[in-house]
Amino acid sequence: MAVSDHVSLDEFMEGVKKRNPGQEEFIQAVREVSQDIFDFIEDKEEYHEAQILRRIVEPDRIVSFRVCWEDDNHNVRVQRGWRVQNNNAIGPYKGGIRFHPTVNESVLKFLAFEQTFKNSLTGLPMGGGKGGSNFNPRGKSDSEVMRFCQSFMTELCRHIGPDVDVPAGDIGVGSREIGYMFGQYKRITNRWEGVLTGKGQEYGGSKMRPEATGYGAVYFLCNMLRHRDEEIDGKTAIISGSGNVALHAAEKFRQLGGKVLTLSDSDGFIHDPDGIDEEKLEWIKDLKMNRRGRISEYANEFSSAEFHEGKRPWHVEADCALPCATQNELEEEGAKALVDNGVLAVAEGANMPSTLDAVEVFHDAKIMYGPGKAANAGGVAVSGLEMSQNSERISWQHERLHDMLTELMGDIHDKCVEYGEIDDGPDNYVDYVKGANVAGFKKVADAMLAFGVI
Ligand code: NDP
Repeated sequence: MAVSDHVSLDEFMEGVKKRNPGQEEFIQAVREVSQDIFDFIEDKEEYHEAQILRRIVEPDRIVSFRVCWEDDNHNVRVQRGWRVQNNNAIGPYKGGIRFHPTVNESVLKFLAFEQTFKNSLTGLPMGGGKGGSNFNPRGKSDSEVMRFCQSFMTELCRHIGPDVDVPAGDIGVGSREIGYMFGQYKRITNRWEGVLTGKGQEYGGSKMRPEATGYGAVYFLCNMLRHRDEEIDGKTAIISGSGNVALHAAEKFRQLGGKVLTLSDSDGFIHDPDGIDEEKLEWIKDLKMNRRGRISEYANEFSSAEFHEGKRPWHVEADCALPCATQNELEEEGAKALVDNGVLAVAEGANMPSTLDAVEVFHDAKIMYGPGKAANAGGVAVSGLEMSQNSERISWQHERLHDMLTELMGDIHDKCVEYGEIDDGPDNYVDYVKGANVAGFKKVADAMLAFGVI
C-alpha cells in the first residue's frame, strides 16, 4: 500500500533545505509556491499519492560546464555555464539565458522553477528551464562577447534543440548575444532551426518579442486596475531597471496616458518629477542599448531629474510600481514605503523582485500585487509564438502578435482571478500569487499524473 505524502509545509521545506544546502533563492521560490499548493492539494489524494510536490521541486536535470575564452589581451579566461532543465511535462524546456556575475546554480534553479509555472500559465505547450553563466558582459568588447558566446554554445548545443530545449535572452543576453549563440549553433550542427528565441527579425525572430515582456506587464497591470474599476490614464509609476523590460514597460505605461517618474540601474535611480516623456525615453534607449551607458547620465542631460546614487526608487510617491530589474530588489522596507505612500498596484516585470517579507506587506495592505510569473509572462508567450512561426516557416504581422499578446495577458489575469479571488470583502480581493501558483501548478501536475511514475 502506497504511503501518501501528508507532511506539514515546514516539514516539507526542511527536506527541501536539506537537499539544496545554501541555495537561498531556490528555497525562497519553492516556499512561495508551496504554501499555496499545500492548500490546494490538501483534499486531493491523487497528488499526494504520486508525490507530485516532491517531484516538481526536483529539476529533471542540471548541466554544468566549463566555458573557456580568450580576452582581447590574449589572457585565457574561465567561466562556469549551466542549463537547468526543470520540467518538460507540458512541452520542450523553455526559458532564458542570463549572463551576470551574480549567476549561480541557486539563482538558475529558482528561475527555472518559476518559469515552469509561468509557461504553464500562458496556455502554450512549453516546459520550464533556465541557463546562464557568471560571465559579465559589462565593459567587454564585442569580440570578447562573441568569443564567450561561441564557447558557451559549443557545449550548450549538445543539450538543446527545437523539440528539446529552446533558450532565450534574459539579463545580459540581448539581441547581440542571441545572434552570436545562434550563429555558433548553426555552424556546429549545420541546421537552421528555431533553437533560440529572441532572434533578430532578419533570421527568424518574431515581431513584438522585444516589447512583449514590458508591454505585457503593463497590460497585466491594466487588467488588475480594471478589475477594480481603475485605469492607467492619469496615473504615475515608479519603474526600476533600465533594460529591455523596464524601457518597454515605461513606453507602454506612457502610451496609455500614465506618467513614469523613475528608472534605475545597479548604480542607483533617477527621479524625474516632470515624467519621462517620449523624447527622454528615446534618449535612454540610445544610452542603454547603443552606447551602453549608465542611468546617472540622464540627470546631466535633463535638469528636471535627480540621480540618487546606490538607492532604489521605492520611496518615491506613485500610484503604481513596476519592479523590472532583478530578483530581491524590493525588500520589506521598500514595500512599506510604497504602501505608506498609497500605491494602488504593483506589477512585476522582473522575476521575483519582491522578497517574501515584501509580498506579505502587500497582502496585509490588500493592494493589487501581480507576481512576475503572471505579470511578465508576455515575453515567454511571444517566444512561444516565435517557436510556432519558425516551425511553420512563416512570419506573422505585428498587429496579429500584438492582439495575441493582449489576449494572452487577459487570459492569464483571468486564471489568477479564478484560483485567487477571495470572496470576503466588498472588493473581492484577488490573491494573484495564489491564483498564478495554483493555475500554473495544476496543468503541469495533471500532465505528470498522466505519465505515471517517471
Ligand atoms: P537587462 O539586462 O536588459 O536589464 C536589466 C536591468 O536591471 C539593467 O538596468 C540592470 O542594471 C538592472 N540590474 C541587473 N542586476 C541588478 C542588480 N543586482 N541591482 C540593481 N539593478 C540591477 O534585463 P531584462 O530587462 O531582460 O530583465 C530584467 C528582469 O526581467 C530580470 O529579472 C529578468 O529575469 C526578467 N524577465 C525578462 C524577460 C525578457 O523578455 N527580457 C522575460 C521575463 C522576465 P545594470 O545595467 O547596471 O546591470
